[in-house]
Amino acid sequence: MKYGAYRIVSGKNWLALIGDDTDFVPIEPWPRSNNDIVSGKMQAAWDEITGEHWGYPHSQMRKHYTGAASLFGTPREQKVDKDGNVNVWGFDERGSFNAVCGYLRSLGVRWYLPGDSGEIVPKLKTIALPEIDQTVEPDFPLRTLNFRFAVYGREAAMWGMRLGLREPYGRQAAHGLDHMTHNEYTLKNHPNWFALYGDKRDTQPGKRLNQLCYSNEELFQETVRSVRAQFDHFQMDEVSVMPPDGYTAICQCELCKGKDTPERGYRGAFSDYVWEFVNRVAKEVRKTHPDKRISNCAYGTYTQPPLNIDKLEPNLQVIIVGGRRPTGESREELMQLRQDWAKKTDRPVIIFENYPFTGRGFYLPAYIPQVLGDSINATKGTSSGEDIWLTMDFGENAIGYNHFLIYFTARMYWGGKDQNVVEMFDEYCRLFYGPAAPAMREFFSYCENHWREMEKKREQSEHALLLFEAAKSKVDEDSIYGQRIRLVDLYLNGLRNKSKQLAQKRGPVPTLRLVGDPLGDIQIDGKLDDKLWEKLPTASTGRLRELQTGRQPIYGTSIKSCWIGRDLYFAIRCEEAPGQSPVSTTTKKGDQAIWYGDAVEILLNTESHSYYQIVVNPAGALIDLDRGTDKNNWFRWDSQAEVATQVGDGYWTVEIRIPVVSDENDPLHQVIGHKPTRSLPWYVNICRQRIRENGSEYSAFAPTGTAGFHEPMKFAHFYRGLSHQFPADESVTDYLIAERVANKLMRKRKYQAAEAAYVALSENKNITPIQKSTALEKASDCARALKAFDRAGQLTDQIPVESIQKTARMENLLSQRNYQSVIDQYGDEDLAQWPFWQAGAGAFVRARAYLRVKDGKKAEADLQQALALTSEPRLKSSILVMMGHNREMNLQDDKLALDAYQQNYLSAGHIGSADQFRSVQGAIRILIRQQKYGEASKVLSLVKTGDLKGFWRHEMMLSQASLLSATDQIDQALNVYRELLKDPSVSKGHRQAAEAALAELNQK
Ligand SMILES: [Zn+2]
Repeated sequence: MKYGAYRIVSGKNWLALIGDDTDFVPIEPWPRSNNDIVSGKMQAAWDEITGEHWGYPHSQMRKHYTGAASLFGTPREQKVDKDGNVNVWGFDERGSFNAVCGYLRSLGVRWYLPGDSGEIVPKLKTIALPEIDQTVEPDFPLRTLNFRFAVYGREAAMWGMRLGLREPYGRQAAHGLDHMTHNEYTLKNHPNWFALYGDKRDTQPGKRLNQLCYSNEELFQETVRSVRAQFDHFQMDEVSVMPPDGYTAICQCELCKGKDTPERGYRGAFSDYVWEFVNRVAKEVRKTHPDKRISNCAYGTYTQPPLNIDKLEPNLQVIIVGGRRPTGESREELMQLRQDWAKKTDRPVIIFENYPFTGRGFYLPAYIPQVLGDSINATKGTSSGEDIWLTMDFGENAIGYNHFLIYFTARMYWGGKDQNVVEMFDEYCRLFYGPAAPAMREFFSYCENHWREMEKKREQSEHALLLFEAAKSKVDEDSIYGQRIRLVDLYLNGLRNKSKQLAQKRGPVPTLRLVGDPLGDIQIDGKLDDKLWEKLPTASTGRLRELQTGRQPIYGTSIKSCWIGRDLYFAIRCEEAPGQSPVSTTTKKGDQAIWYGDAVEILLNTESHSYYQIVVNPAGALIDLDRGTDKNNWFRWDSQAEVATQVGDGYWTVEIRIPVVSDENDPLHQVIGHKPTRSLPWYVNICRQRIRENGSEYSAFAPTGTAGFHEPMKFAHFYRGLSHQFPADESVTDYLIAERVANKLMRKRKYQAAEAAYVALSENKNITPIQKSTALEKASDCARALKAFDRAGQLTDQIPVESIQKTARMENLLSQRNYQSVIDQYGDEDLAQWPFWQAGAGAFVRARAYLRVKDGKKAEADLQQALALTSEPRLKSSILVMMGHNREMNLQDDKLALDAYQQNYLSAGHIGSADQFRSVQGAIRILIRQQKYGEASKVLSLVKTGDLKGFWRHEMMLSQASLLSATDQIDQALNVYRELLKDPSVSKGHRQAAEAALAELNQK
């Protein structure tokens, strides 16, 4: 009897329960503790044996023992502890144990959950000795639900054993080549084994994955030798020759060129290339070890069978990842995949799955006994079993779902091709939920048919919750049934939250749009000089705004995005103070210290997953999280993003490639989703933090209106397609939306209404101190516009952030022309100590006071500071014109004044703002004084006076006329004045100026 099969046989007064009980004995060297691994002790011992530097393959061994691995085999080891628990290895054979459980099961015993509350034990007065001679065979030799006894604990281990699972020693499933090559020695000494990207081999130490070159002959030879060593020393039966995870970009060396088959799509792109290598290894190894196997997974870019091999070597074990996924949308596709593989190999395949299937939407109640049962029955006879990796929580918040998945999977491994899952399910409902059985059955059935829709539709999730409430009401809370239902109840909290979320719609948020199919490549080097970036349509670009208030940040950030092939790219440029370096708090990947310094964050909510977080700092360090899983697993996810940064004077940049896969087989790696469209858009936010001793500034492409980045309902729309206005839910409100309404009133000079709106906003309970200060500052602006200076003062008194309050107080004094008071009260203020995001505003106000009292030097100093700390273009322009004015009038330095004016118009594409016109006027004034008439005329020609109307047209005409008269073109000057006076819309001031000039010229 093999693979845990058992026999129950009875005689006159005896009952025998028989099976293979071979105990597993680990082979040295094996780690007794984690320290044996991290200290390098195991590696050194393995190197000693092989004479090589292949990675040590059994680092997880001790996790499969229920006792203290450190005592194993010592005299102090207690095989049976004081509570009577026997210590076992997960790799032990348990034939007679299966027989005992099988016999108990025949008497009606069931184990639905780990622990006592999961046990059903019928009450019997006596047990009749049966007349029996029965041999029970499992449907698969391999029945591995990867419990790792030391990790999941004794109760879970006991449960798994009772369900009849089997995890034989001696087989390796995943990423064997990663184990073999991923060490410093190999990276350093065998660079040619690794994939070539650009002009570099993928040998950077400290990377989580280093990809290989499967055309390299030495790698092939070494793989063969390493596989043989594992067979010989560790008595392995099946060794993995699978590439390191995430092989999505083929090696670019001459030998590998053309070996990929991208026309087969993502899941077939590297099939010929990878399987050819693996098959060669199998062939070579078979010469010495004909009864051993090597394995590879049908996975990622090599999921589909190769086309360049008719029949795989007989010793090659194919493991299909996601090969029967019951949550997959298309059963036919999976069956086709299994059939296609069956044509390539006579050896039954192994199915590999990740449980729980809904790891990325764990709240979804995928209670799916029917499809679970059918999918397993469908592989009986063609598969030698399953290897299921558990990333599972056995705690009370999750077990209400997880037990279901495990129970129905494990028990379907027995019972033959026609094992009846419906009967099993009915029995489960009846025995486990007692009086609530019919209602629970109805709840589960509804979930089986509708769980997928519950991700997007509230109606379905609400209906499921209603059905569950009905079931809940059928049982007494304190009864055993009530306790079990409580576990399902706790699990459903996730669905309840989701349902609440679904009731919420998105308010007005920005849009970032992918346009067309970009031509050319992007070199990830951190320089954003690729043609593609330069020619990108505006719709694919954006700028960040301050997170809480939506204002322009002091240090601006621009973003660009595009999609090429299967990759999403972003180019991000962060402006910095010239001469200052950005702050990087780490250079290591995955180091959470990154959040103590400058960083940009990309938050991606794909059409199928909410949401991923990728953080990069100026040093190029990266950390990535999947916020869609439970908190313990956030950091286990890996984006596999390729990133480069550059730090220059006055800026730093990020260039990043994020691979996107539609394959859900490996939830721990890469962004999962499909290219976003208008009907299935993604939601995205790009955020930046700038952390300094004198303050921090947070900005985002889609400001959240809160103090944090993590507001998925505020993320921007992101899709590829034509321009489109997404409807916004008008009932959504937040600070940003409310402030926009008030700002509009203010722009229309409805100061009273605007003031009331700002005050109301400032009284909102959920507002942050910065928001409250901003609202009150604007309210006091309105009060001042209404000349209600006392009220403005009262509003200012309530501002909670000190630097904003001081700025507003200065404004109040200034508007009452108390210039000297500003200087008396705030002249000594050290603005460099203020938060850097407010210091510029403070300096600008104070400068105006100095300007008025004609203290040119102090005004100049404050204006310089204000300019350095302002990025908002219009405000910058106001500062420059004032700077020019101060230099011209107070400092009497025409040269410097001209310099300030020039900055306002020279590089501007179009001159159209009042401050720019003023700067042009100022420049002409100075140039005339300097008798540089040609230059003055050039400056004047920058303004299209003919296209202007009203005030600025008349101003510019006056400038033109004064230039003409200065160069003795009197007639032309006279014409300009006359033309001006003919315009009926000319203001009184302009009319008087023209008339006075005319009179003067006429006298000449
Ligand atoms: Zn290569």
